[in-house]
Amino acid sequence: MIRIQQLKLHTGHTPEQLREKIGKALRLKGGEDFSYRIVRRSLDARRKPELFYVYTVDVSVKGEKALLRKNRDKNIQQAKEAGYRFPEPGPEELKHRPVVAGFGPAGIFAAYMLALHGYRPLVVERGMEAQQRKKDVEKFWETGVLDTRSNVQFGEGGAGTFSDGKLNTLVKDKFGRNRKVLEILRDHGAPEEIAWDAKPHIGTDLLIRVVTRMREDIIRLGGQVCFHTQLVSLEPVLGEEGGLSLELQDTLSGVTIMERTQALILAVGHSARDTFSMLHEKKIPMEAKAFAVGVRAEHPQAMIDRDQYGMEEGEKRPGGLPAAAYKLTCQLPEGRGVYTFCMCPGGYVVNASSEEGRLAVNGMSYHDRAGRNANSAVIVTVTPQDFGGEGPLAGVEFQRRLEERAWQAGQGKVPVQLYGDFCRGRVSDHIGEVEPQIRGDFCFGNVRGIFPEEIGDAIARGIREFGKKLPGYDREDAVLSGVESRTSSPVRILRDEGLQSQLPGLYPCGEGAGYAGGIMSAAMDGMKVAEAVARKYRPFDKSA
Ligand code: FAD
Repeated sequence: MIRIQQLKLHTGHTPEQLREKIGKALRLKGGEDFSYRIVRRSLDARRKPELFYVYTVDVSVKGEKALLRKNRDKNIQQAKEAGYRFPEPGPEELKHRPVVAGFGPAGIFAAYMLALHGYRPLVVERGMEAQQRKKDVEKFWETGVLDTRSNVQFGEGGAGTFSDGKLNTLVKDKFGRNRKVLEILRDHGAPEEIAWDAKPHIGTDLLIRVVTRMREDIIRLGGQVCFHTQLVSLEPVLGEEGGLSLELQDTLSGVTIMERTQALILAVGHSARDTFSMLHEKKIPMEAKAFAVGVRAEHPQAMIDRDQYGMEEGEKRPGGLPAAAYKLTCQLPEGRGVYTFCMCPGGYVVNASSEEGRLAVNGMSYHDRAGRNANSAVIVTVTPQDFGGEGPLAGVEFQRRLEERAWQAGQGKVPVQLYGDFCRGRVSDHIGEVEPQIRGDFCFGNVRGIFPEEIGDAIARGIREFGKKLPGYDREDAVLSGVESRTSSPVRILRDEGLQSQLPGLYPCGEGAGYAGGIMSAAMDGMKVAEAVARKYRPFDKSA
C-alpha cells in the first residue's frame, strides 16, 4: 500500500475528484486501476471562507515498488501501520471468571476484549440496560424525579451514553488501540466515517445502538452482563488460592450475591462516589487529583458557523459541512487557566445529576447535530489546594458542595443566567436572542453564586477573552448554566506497572480511577487493562 498525505480538495468535491487527485499524485496514466481507503480527513479553514478537506489515503495499485522508487514527493510513502495485537495469554490458571464492575466505555472495552479472547467475563453494572435507562432519563428530564440507580451517569454505556459522542483523544498510542476502538465501534453500528474523520462523533441516538450490540456480542462470546447489580464491597481472600471476594447487590430487589475472582476490573467512572468511599474505607491506596469546574455556555450555532467558516450574516452553511466546533483557552494574568471542554455543536445542555439535592450539567447532541445552539463547558482547573479539606475524597466533597449550591440556585431545576448578568452579579429576568436548549426543567438563578469568588471571576474574564477570538462569544445574552462539575475524576486509584492496585487482583481502570478523560481514552484504558489480565492468565474455560 502507498500512503499519500496532504491531498487537499475543496469541501464541495465529489468522490471522482478525490480519485482524480490520487491518480495525479501518483502520476498514473488514465487507464491504470487502483483502489484506495481514506485513513484520515480533516478540515482546513485557514483561508476561510474558502474551506478545504485534507486527506490521507492508502492506495493499492499494481507496480507499487516501481512507483515508490521513482517518487520524489515526501507526502508519498510506503504505508506502515502496525495493526493492534492482543497479547499471548499468560501461564497462570484462572479458577474464577474475571469480573468487570461498570459498563461504561472502559468496562465495555475491557469486557469485550476479554470475551473475544476466551475469558468469559462477568460484568456487573449498577444501572439499567440502555432502553430502560433512556426511559428513566427522559422521565427525569420531564418530571424532575431522579432515579439515583438509573440516570445520565449510571447505566449501560456509562456516562457517555447521553453525550455528543465525540471520539477524539489526545492520547497517542503506538500499539494501535485508538484505531482499534474506532473500528470496533464502527463494526457495531457507528458511522463508517468515524474510522477516518479527524473529529469523529457518534451522537447519543446511535451510541445506544452501538453499546447494546457490544453487550450482545459479549454474551454471545460466553460473557455474562448483569444490570442493576452494584459492587458494594470487596475483601481479599486469605490463604493459598488468594483473589478477592466480592459483595454484589441487586439494586432493585436488594438481594446480595457473593462472587469470587482473581481479577476485578474496576471501571466505575467518575461519579461512583459511594464506591470511592467504600474503597477508601478498605484502605485501597488512592489520592485526590486536580479536575475542573465551571459552567455550560450556549450560543447560536449559526454564530459559531459564521465565526469558524467565515460565512456572511444570514448565509446558510454549505451542504456537507458539519455544524462548526471550537476549542478556546486563555491564561489569566493571576495564573488561572480557563478553557472550553466537551463542546457540542448543534447540541443540548442536559441535567446530568445523579444524587438527590445536588445538580450537575453536561452537554449532548444527536448524530445530525441539528440543534439550534452550540454549547460547551467553560471551566477552570481546581487542585487539592482549592478543595478546602484533606484526604483522597476532598475533591468529591468539593464537587458535592458546588452541586448543592447549583441545586439551591434553581430549586432543583437547572439554574441559568445570561452572561451579562453573570458579570454584574444579578439574577436574569428575561432571555435574549439565545434560547436555552436544555433537557430538563430550568429557571433563572444565581449561577455565579455557585462558585468561590475567584473561580466565578475567572469564568467571567475567560469568556470576555474568548470573545476576542470568537466574535460574539461574550455577548450579553449568551446563556450560562451550572454546574459543570463532572469533567473528570476527583480521585486517582493507584496502580502498579502490572496495572494492579496494592490489593492483588484489583485493576483500577478508566476515568473513575484517574487514567482516562473521555470516551476514547476510557475505552483504550479498558483494552489496556484487559491485556494486563490476559498477560497473566490463561483464558477461562469453565462454565459459569
Ligand atoms: P463511565 O462511563 O462513567 O462508566 C462507569 C459505569 O460504572 C457507569 O455506568 C456506572 O453506572 C457504573 N458503576 C459505578 N459504580 C459501580 C459499582 N459500584 N458497581 C457496578 N457498576 C458501577 N466524553 C467524550 O469523549 N465525548 C463526549 O462527547 C462526551 N460527552 C459527555 C456528555 C455527558 C452528558 C457526560 C455525562 C459525559 C460525557 N463525556 C464525553 C465523558 C465520557 O462519558 C466519560 O469520559 C466516559 O464515559 C468515561 O468512561 P468510563 O467507562 O471510565 O466511566
